[in-house]
Amino acid sequence: MTIAAEFIGVSQVFGDFTAVDAIDLSITEGKLTTLLGPSGCGKTTSLRMLAGYSTPTSGTIKIAGVDSTRTPPEKRGLGMVFQSYALFPHLTVAENVAYGLKLRRVPAAERQKTVMETLDLVGLAHLAASKPKKLSGGQQQRVALARAIAIKPTLLLLDEPLSNLDARLRVQMRAEIRRIQAETGLTVVLVTHDQDEALEMSDDMVLMRAGRIMQQGSPQDVFRSPANRFVADFLGYENFVHTAAGDLLAVRPEHLEVTAASTGGSDGLRLEGRIADVAFRGVDLLVTVDAIDASGARVRLISDVRSTGSDILAVGDDVTVSAAAGRLVPLAG
Ligand code: ATP
Repeated sequence: MTIAAEFIGVSQVFGDFTAVDAIDLSITEGKLTTLLGPSGCGKTTSLRMLAGYSTPTSGTIKIAGVDSTRTPPEKRGLGMVFQSYALFPHLTVAENVAYGLKLRRVPAAERQKTVMETLDLVGLAHLAASKPKKLSGGQQQRVALARAIAIKPTLLLLDEPLSNLDARLRVQMRAEIRRIQAETGLTVVLVTHDQDEALEMSDDMVLMRAGRIMQQGSPQDVFRSPANRFVADFLGYENFVHTAAGDLLAVRPEHLEVTAASTGGSDGLRLEGRIADVAFRGVDLLVTVDAIDASGARVRLISDVRSTGSDILAVGDDVTVSAAAGRLVPLAG
């Protein structure tokens, strides 16, 4: 695996606030890496340093093995797409896509060929002569993508590129960006706060919190084996219980069963509790149960159960909450 870009002990401090705190991070060539985390965790600040729009307070950023910490953005050979597409309204779609090539003094004939190939790739060749304001949000997004890709960037940086699209289109564009990435072999770094987007799109997922990296790995690995409580929480593990020995276990709501008192059970987790709330959600029910875990601590558990056959569950019922041993995920802290 070749490393396309690298952060080595990189920090960004604004006044007395540390937005990015001595991160080490490798971006693999030809892969899609996402920076994921809650608002304010330092994703955009990290991307801006990679793009050259801001200089780290300390540390080194390497691109293709070369120290680029102080290289200006236009010399980094990067393509970038922002949440606001930032298209030039007075230029046609084709002229927008040609923009970076013109700046690089690519001859007209070659420019024309690249523009049409790139518009083909994003499925917009038929709109080459249109002005951006005639296009839908999704089409504008594709133009922005085409403009960034046309220059054959060493890295394609995407900052929340889908957040202005409606829910359906957003899901379609996830697959579309994946397809384009696979066809071009581009190295992509994507910033998002949406865990579903990150899980679906990433080869490599980097979870950040308060300027630090909490975990990096494939979506499968991070989802199945979250490193700590923050990562588990962020990825939808709702239930945290201690064992008698004081170790911490996480369980997903869909893996927690709720049955009438003293029935059911398993060789994994088994706690007695009382139903505090039942929320009807169509195909499933969210059942909240108050219980005492094996360490003696009060815990609030949430189980996501199929609504068919579970209609007997009511607030105040005494129940058994259980999960199979294989569903219990040990956490470091
Ligand atoms: P979001 O999704 O909300 O953009 P993020 O993870 O991308 O979140 P950043 O934009 O990197 O977060 O910001 C991290 C922190 O740094 C935030 O608390 C932000 O207010 C602060 N910050 C960012 N830029 C500056 C700046 N130029 N001056 C002062 N503080 C800043």
